[in-house]
Amino acid sequence: MLTLKLAASSALASVLCVTAVYAANATMGGETPMTWMETLEELNSLNFLLPAWKYMIENYDEFTINAGFTFVLHEVVYFGGWIPYLLLDYIPAVQQYKIQEKPNTWEMTSKCLKLLAFNHVIVQLPMMISSHSSLKMLGFGMDVPLPTAWTIFWKVMVSAVLEDFYNYWAHRFLHWKKIYKYIHKLHHEYAAPFGITAEYAHPAETLILGLGTFLGPLLLTRHLLTLWVWMVVRIMQSIDSHSGYDLPFALTSWLPFWGGPVHHDYHHEKFDCNYASFFTIWDWVFGTDVQFRQDQHIKYTTGKSSWSDVFYKLGLATYKKDPSDKKAKKA
Ligand SMILES: [Zn+2]
Ligand SMILES: [Zn+2]
Repeated sequence: MLTLKLAASSALASVLCVTAVYAANATMGGETPMTWMETLEELNSLNFLLPAWKYMIENYDEFTINAGFTFVLHEVVYFGGWIPYLLLDYIPAVQQYKIQEKPNTWEMTSKCLKLLAFNHVIVQLPMMISSHSSLKMLGFGMDVPLPTAWTIFWKVMVSAVLEDFYNYWAHRFLHWKKIYKYIHKLHHEYAAPFGITAEYAHPAETLILGLGTFLGPLLLTRHLLTLWVWMVVRIMQSIDSHSGYDLPFALTSWLPFWGGPVHHDYHHEKFDCNYASFFTIWDWVFGTDVQFRQDQHIKYTTGKSSWSDVFYKLGLATYKKDPSDKKAKKA
């Protein structure tokens, strides 16, 4: 059912997109209106981005683009992506979807913003400035033609899978008792996270987990546009998983392996479980989500949460048997 929902919504979005371009082309009365297939190919080629992209590479040097524009894009997406979640805090009707009851105060937010200002300006900006020469050395470029939409899509998907596996183990390593208090403890200051706590972390953690974000681009692409799209997806996913809200239209309802805010919020609340960033696969495989699934099963069956994944739907998740629930599986 989930797969059907996902396939249907993706197909609908694609059809609407192609129809819009096809209709625009037909009404403009071009010499030879494009066929449906040509319209699809035109969208896939990303030619509509070419004027802006050419303007950028013709008017700015590579250092400004690699370091400066990447930094600005990160800031705009990070803080811009947080604003909708911030506004949710002021809508009483949405408070029923809050995962934990603890309120987000301005005191907590301003403390978070102070560390973020330090991290972004003193740590991340120098990292991006120095990354210019690394990107050049590795052969990254920004030339035209641009990669196709399909190429960017599958590379972003594979990057997410690689990052998720790396993050699972690197994150588990950061929870190792001998080093936890030196690095990762800072990120766990917020037991009930909210959007911008995503990057509230020690600089060493930014470096260690950042390696996983770069793994996909390093193995799969040498074009800056693919790198930027992946960076935007990763930032948005990270803000969403720290949002503290289990909204009805969340991706967990659509993507069978998606962890989302409920999965990561539980990590902040309970600490030694749910280590993966994107998906629920590795926590399920390595058994680091048993207590989470136990608690979630109770919430799901009592209507307190709608979170579920493919392992739950297929009855593959383990939780202790509750005599009042016939669906329960024996642990
Ligand atoms: Zn952690
Ligand atoms: Zn976190």
